[in-house]
Amino acid sequence: SADVIKTDAVIIGAGPVGLFAVFELGLLDVKAHVIDILDRPGGQCAELYPEKPIYDVPAIPVVTGQELTDKLMEQIKPFGAEFHFNERVDALERIDGGFRLTTDDGTVFESKVVVIAAGGGSFTPKRPPLPGIEQYEGKSVFYSVRKMDAFKDRDVLIVGGGDSALDWTLNLQPVAKSLTLLHRRSEFRAAPASVQKMLALVESGNIAFKLGQVTELHGADGQLTGATVKAPDGTTFEQPLEVMLPFFGLTMKLGPVADWGLQLEENLIPVDTEKFETSEKGIFAIGDINTYPGKLKLILSGFHEGALMAQQVHKYVYPDKKLIFQYTTSSSNLQKKLGVK
Ligand code: FAD
Repeated sequence: SADVIKTDAVIIGAGPVGLFAVFELGLLDVKAHVIDILDRPGGQCAELYPEKPIYDVPAIPVVTGQELTDKLMEQIKPFGAEFHFNERVDALERIDGGFRLTTDDGTVFESKVVVIAAGGGSFTPKRPPLPGIEQYEGKSVFYSVRKMDAFKDRDVLIVGGGDSALDWTLNLQPVAKSLTLLHRRSEFRAAPASVQKMLALVESGNIAFKLGQVTELHGADGQLTGATVKAPDGTTFEQPLEVMLPFFGLTMKLGPVADWGLQLEENLIPVDTEKFETSEKGIFAIGDINTYPGKLKLILSGFHEGALMAQQVHKYVYPDKKLIFQYTTSSSNLQKKLGVK
């Protein structure tokens, strides 16, 4: 169909290793699309430790997780890779001449090769321990916001006290019919500026802030109508609502990668150390997701793996072209691709 995105390579995962793979592939004229379930690039660096310093990236004595991500994005910019965030690759199948990948949002890709840079697996929202919550998920309970319009003129309850809870409180307030933020305590683990903005909205009567924890959900056929909330003093109250957005953080789960028929070793994908190819020809695995004798789960290892992977990918994408080894320092050809010449 016309909606299928055709490309040379699909990179699954926009962590540091997936990002640098865009660079190594780009130097060899291999076009890539990058898919990540997160809403932005950086993988573990951006999600788990954006402000922590990393000391072992060669030639950069100290860099935070977010800074490294930003620098990688700048470095790969010349190659114009297309990013697809908030989408999880669910299906991967072999077709004539390559592979077909389908995301949970229904996007379909056809590519000559697949590079799995899935790290510790897809980041998955933590589910609040509420009996029967599954029946509401995707209908009136959401763990992420894909389209703000879906919350237009609804009575929204946001649960949590981190950056996601605060950010979406601020963003959805103008859209929702009513918005209540619920958190178990009055301290927040979010940017102070967001907390100030939220409190100002409470002050002006545009949103409500309540203390407590949801203990029970009420509704039918996937549609929530309310929740029972236990306040810190032990009393309970009923909170009417149409939509609930719990933001309880994310965990990494291997997820769909396990369903693609690849050989696995303790949730890791074995590869050779020449091409970083999996048990399936044309499917590569680089970064934290792979395993081989001596493997170290370090960013610098993933960068190296990407460089070697790209050499083999070139053979699949350009079977008739001989690859000549070149330095970025001295090759005007490479410099043209980098936009510096
Ligand atoms: P990840 O960063 O894990 O990214 C993988 C991405 O793939 C994720 O965003 C995930 O959502 C996505 N994904 C997976 N499956 C799918 C799917 N089916 N569909 C869509 N998206 C999917 N390393 C160092 O070298 N030096 C350090 O100092 C260092 N400090 C660290 C400190 C902490 C606290 C932690 C947690 C890690 C640290 N690391 C460090 C390890 C480093 O972060 C990892 O080695 C690195 O992030 C691996 O990169 P990656 O791209 O392979 O995977």
